[in-house]
Amino acid sequence: MGHNILYIEDNPDNMMLVKRALESRGYALLEAFTGLSGVEAAESSDVDLVLLDINLPDIDGYEVARRLRGSQKSALTYVPIIAITANALKGDAEKALASGCDVYMSKPINIRELWARVEAFVPAPEGKK
Ligand code: MN
Repeated sequence: MGHNILYIEDNPDNMMLVKRALESRGYALLEAFTGLSGVEAAESSDVDLVLLDINLPDIDGYEVARRLRGSQKSALTYVPIIAITANALKGDAEKALASGCDVYMSKPINIRELWARVEAFVPAPEGKK
């Protein structure tokens, strides 16, 4: 199993935070700053897990999740998707699950929660725990 994580997120500060946190554990991070480029990256690369922001500048995270689940690339029908929602109290979480995400976490991003949620699907490489 690989350790390639795709993060679809338009906020560069969050992108940098997550990149540092995951690379320190030995994962490789693929970056996409729009929904459409994220779908394209998922379809053209080997991706073991997707981290998905909901508020994106083009198509939103719900639509990204639906497109991944409906992709011609069969691995994307079951690749783990973790939604990262800004409005967990306003129904984002339920909508994320309904659109095909496996779990969700709320912003602001808590690094320990991020590690735990990622490792539940993709164990960290040997020697990096
Ligand atoms: Mn955003």
